[in-house]
This record gives sequence, C-alpha cells and structure tokens, in this order.
Amino acid sequence: EHEWSTFSDRIKPFMQTQWKAGPLINGQLITENVDIKSVLAPYDHSETVGSIGWANADLVNDALNTAAQAYPAWRDTPVNERATALEKLADLLEENYGEFMALCHREAGKTIQDSIDEVREAVDFCRYYAVQARKNMSAPVSFTRHDQRTVQMTRKGRGVFVCISPWNFPLAIFLGQVTAALAAGNTVIAKPAEQTGLIAFRAIELMLEAGIPAGAIQFMPGDGATVGAPLTSDSRVAGVAFTGSTDTARLINAALATRDAAPVPFIAETGGQNAMIIDSTSLPEQVVRDVVRSAFASAGQRCSALRVLFVQQDVADRIIPMIKGAMQERSVGLPEQHKTDIGPVIDREAQSGLLNHIARLKQEATLIAESPLPAYAEKGTFVAPTAFVIDSIDQLTEEQFGPILHVVRYKAKELDSVIDRINATGFGLTLGVHSRNETTAKHIAQRVKAGNIYINRDQVGAVVGVQPFGGQGLSGTGPKAGGPHYLNRFTVEHHTVLDTAQA
Ligand code: NAD
Repeated sequence: EHEWSTFSDRIKPFMQTQWKAGPLINGQLITENVDIKSVLAPYDHSETVGSIGWANADLVNDALNTAAQAYPAWRDTPVNERATALEKLADLLEENYGEFMALCHREAGKTIQDSIDEVREAVDFCRYYAVQARKNMSAPVSFTRHDQRTVQMTRKGRGVFVCISPWNFPLAIFLGQVTAALAAGNTVIAKPAEQTGLIAFRAIELMLEAGIPAGAIQFMPGDGATVGAPLTSDSRVAGVAFTGSTDTARLINAALATRDAAPVPFIAETGGQNAMIIDSTSLPEQVVRDVVRSAFASAGQRCSALRVLFVQQDVADRIIPMIKGAMQERSVGLPEQHKTDIGPVIDREAQSGLLNHIARLKQEATLIAESPLPAYAEKGTFVAPTAFVIDSIDQLTEEQFGPILHVVRYKAKELDSVIDRINATGFGLTLGVHSRNETTAKHIAQRVKAGNIYINRDQVGAVVGVQPFGGQGLSGTGPKAGGPHYLNRFTVEHHTVLDTAQA
C-alpha cells in the first residue's frame, strides 16, 4: 500500500503535462516542415497528452547523412565510455521515474503496475547491454595457433543501425533496441511507433543528457510508409532491428532486398499465436490464475500473451466456468485507479479490429464470458475482456492483439494433433503448459515450436538477463532480446593474425 501511494505521488505532477516532441537530427529539434499530430489519451479521447511533429523522406535523408558521418567517431569511442553513458541513462530514467510512468499511463494507457514494470525493464536493458558491451567488446579475445602465432578477435559496430519499435512496450522495447545498437558502437536512427512518440522522445532527450553524442542518435517519428519505408530501403543502412507485426517484418525484408547494397542483419521480433495446453493432472486454481493473467494482462497487448487455450476434455467443464468466474473478478477501468487490472487498448483502429473479431465469433463460436465495461468506457478505446470456446485454432487466421481468449477442448489421445495444429500456425513465440505429469510436460515442450516456454506458470515476456525473449518461425529471427547473444548481431567480428616472432 505504501509503495502504491508513492508511485501515484510520483505520477501526479505529470497528470496535466502537455509534452511536445518532434524529429531530432544531431540534437536539433526540427520544427519546420513537419506534420504536427496531437496525442490523445487512450482512456479518454478528450484528454490531450501533447503534440509531436512527424518526419518525412527529406528528414530521413538528413538523419541518415548525420548518422553516417558520426559513425567512425562513435565506433572508436572506448567501449567503457559508451557503456558509462548508458548506465548514466539508466540513472536518469530512475530519477525521472514519475514522468515516464505518467507517459506510459497517459500516452499508452498502461495501468500503474504495467507502467512500473515498463520503466523497470527499460532501466534493466540499459544496464544489461552496457555490461554486455564491456564484457564482450573491451579487449580482444586472443587465441594461439599451432605455430604459436596469435589470433586476435575484436568486435566493432557495423555502421548506421535503424531501430523500429512497436507501441506496446513504448519505452522498454524502444530503449532495448537503441541501447544495444549504441553499446555495440553503431550510430542509430530510432523510429518509434506512431502511437507512442512522446515517451520515446523524452528517452532520447535523456540519452543526450547522459552523454551520448548528438550525432550518434537521430530520432525520426512518423508513420511506417513515410518514415519506416525510406529508412529500410536506403543503402547507407548497416542493419535493422525491428519489433512489431509479422506483416511489417515482411515489408521490411522486401525493402532491404531491393537495395543495391550488401545484405545486412535484420533482427525481427514479431507476432505470435500463443497457446497454452492444460491436461487433466493440472491444478485448476493455479491454471485459472495463470490463464487469466496471461490472456488479459496489459489488456492482452503483450506479444507473449495467451491467445489459444487447449483444455483436456475431462477437466473442461470444471475449468471453463472457473475462467468465467475469474474474469468477473478482474476490474476493467481507468488505468490510473489502483483497483484497475485491465485498461484500454491502444487506439480506435485496434479497438475496431478486435470488436469485429468478437462480433464474428459471436456468430461462429460459444461465448464463455464478456466482462462489463464501466460507463465512461466510450470516452476512450476500451474492449471488454472476452472468452470463447472455438472448435479449432485453424479458425484464427490472424493474431488478435487484445483481451480475447479462445478455448479449444481436446481429448487426451489428440495431444499430438494439438501440437501439430499449434505448429501449423507457423508462429513460435510463447507456449504455456500446465501438467503435473513431467513426461507429458516435456513431451509438449520438446515438440511445440516456441521461443519461450512456461511450465506451470503464467506466460510473461522477458526478464532481462535471466529470461531472454524471442520467437521462431513467423515470430522472429533471434537472437533473443535481453540475452547474452543479442549484442553480437549488432557487431562485426575481426580476426587478426599477429606474427609475434617478427614483432
Ligand atoms: P506494427 O508492425 O504495426 O508496427 C511496428 C513498427 O513498424 C511501427 O513503428 C511502424 O510505424 C513500423 N512500420 C510500419 N510499416 C512499416 C514499413 N513499411 N517499413 C518500416 N517500418 C514500418 O506493430 P505494432 O502494432 O506497433 O505492434 C504490435 C505487434 O508487435 C504485434 O504483432 C506483436 O505481437 C508484436 N510484438 C512482438 C514482440 C516480440 O518480442 N516478438 C514484442 C512486442 C510486440
């Protein structure tokens, strides 16, 4: 209780703030020739949060030139200095915790708990990649050949890295990509999601304050077609880190392929059709707690979120009513209220897509529960948490990025075909298993394609440094964010042979 009130006290001074943002090139805020957009709070469209100028192709060109010019100096900056600047950024984020929580809350509609988690994760990414850079890039790794000559391996940045991020972790994923690219010695052009440019802009301002040189980081807010597309089809780009939908990843892949330039790394973390399988040995109370958390936390807008729950027939009639009961206990409401578990979805477009899907399933499937919405919900973009029993996962042709749970019953003898159906989606992000039969749990975990598997617990995303996160197949290329191999993909390796005998 004490902690909660401390957090709301820190948010309060920023509840009326109107933030202003725009493209940043070489540390200069660009105010001419930009398209000014106002930013509305997802929970109440009569509340403005600020305004942001969107960039265009000319500014993208200027940003690329600046980043390319700044690259050699940043590459040659000792890794210790780069890492120290990122650690300073982590300190500044902690000092400005209240403002960033308020931004999570007002720009992205995150609950207080989600806002706390978001800022925490962003801070962890900064510190983790700083440590990884120090560890892997400070000194050459030496090998001795059979003829006693020494081979030294060093890592360097690649050049200009483009980082394109989604709105659902507007600070953590945004900073995770950018800090990894910078730590590794690249200069960066950061393109935030259309919906969450203000929080990203404040993070960039803190980077400059932390001592990252202005040339090393350019900020290009705008939409995918106007800003993202020219960034990813330019031959000056040495790599792209992207998190977002699988469809956008395909577009970027195609754009990179049209360039008259060498192929570059494309690090993509994309969508999912995440399943959980529960068998008759699982513990119902634990299952239901984890199902509801996994499906509805952050209004279902986590890439790790549970979408399709497979329940063994023998326990389905017990578990399904319990899910309904647990959904009724979750409170949908204004994200700033402590009692709120589930806030709004990000915007009108997301809301209408989800409502269309719910309307379709009301015709085709059996409704389990639809939580009531508070009266003020129409002011913003709320979607009632909803659960259906469906016949087959094949009925779901797309990822539904919101608070909708689909339940499929299966018979024990059908387990392998359930696994096949999950794999047939082509995605491979998260998988949940609830079973007290170790052989069954291992059988499932071994056969389902998924980057992150959660046995007898809820399906949550990354824990930086401990539980690296990323998918396979249509869900992503790897390496996993927050893991020990992530930074390497942002670097090139040099192996140098030294003839010590002649030295
Ligand atoms: P999105 O694909 O619509 O947008 C992501 C980013 O791509 C935005 O910045 C957007 O402006 C940009 N973009 C759009 N078109 C582009 C183009 N042609 N060229 C370059 N950039 C372009 O995704 P979203 O709606 O912001 O995010 C939700 C999606 O992200 C979901 O599919 C979710 O599963 C996925 N996601 C995955 C992970 C993961 O770790 N695998 C994490 C978070 C979110």
